[in-house]
Amino acid sequence: MSTPGRPKCEFRSAQHGGLPMTPTVHLVGAGPGDPELLTVKAIRAIRQATVLLVDELVGDGVLRYARRSARIVPVGKRGGCASTPQAFIERLMATEALKGERVVRLKGGDPFVFGRGGEEAAHLRALGIRVEVVNGITSGLAAATALGAPLTHRDHAHGVMLVTGHARSDGEPLHWPTLAAAAAQGLTLVVYMGVATVESLQQGLLGALPAHTPVAVVQHASLPTQRHVLATLGELPQAVRREGLGSPAIIVVGDVLKAAAIVGRERPARAA
Ligand code: SAH
Repeated sequence: MSTPGRPKCEFRSAQHGGLPMTPTVHLVGAGPGDPELLTVKAIRAIRQATVLLVDELVGDGVLRYARRSARIVPVGKRGGCASTPQAFIERLMATEALKGERVVRLKGGDPFVFGRGGEEAAHLRALGIRVEVVNGITSGLAAATALGAPLTHRDHAHGVMLVTGHARSDGEPLHWPTLAAAAAQGLTLVVYMGVATVESLQQGLLGALPAHTPVAVVQHASLPTQRHVLATLGELPQAVRREGLGSPAIIVVGDVLKAAAIVGRERPARAA
């Protein structure tokens, strides 16, 4: 029932009757790939969008919620094309929003977890554009769930670190022994973008963690193509190579993986 004196649906009337009141961009997390892991809010934003800028890691299933008339702009490395420059993406979002388009920037996982969402939001806000951020399930969480491993299982861990294995060329190099020391204190380590440099990750972590520490690598978490391997830190690079795992993948390090075995959801990367 509508409240007397108030428009039935303010949001619809603003968005559908001409231009939105304030130019707005939605930074939307598309989750790890399985469209069923989208939030209701994400689906609503995708349905209402007239322009969507879509990252390479966004699953095709997610785009079925877009209207047929929507302009879909892929802005990743899909199809062997070069990665779209960040400045181009930011300019396009701003131009379209200022023209009155309903712009959705669709990102894999969560926009604020290694997704450059912070930079994009700051750029847009500086231009007076309103930014709405819609959470997505980050792939680190989806990967752990795929293994049946509770990342903060209280018998094994009291926290989680989300870390990138891909340090900025202009930033501080990663210091794996420091992270390993924290992991040894009971923090589960979840590494994004780490498979390409798995050898240096392993060598660094062995500085403070024993070789028998459980590790897992999950590729394509939540998708039908999902594969994983459970191993020890001492044999991590060999296990990755043996199973032919590559990006996009998450590496999990820590004793919580013992719980993964307990709940019995092991699924080998390749059928024996
Ligand atoms: N914002 C994203 C992360 C983007 S960085 C998120 O919250 O998930 C890109 C990295 O995310 C990849 O290199 C990989 O480490 C990880 N990733 C993204 N999707 C994945 C998936 N379905 N399975 C495993 N790892 C994934």
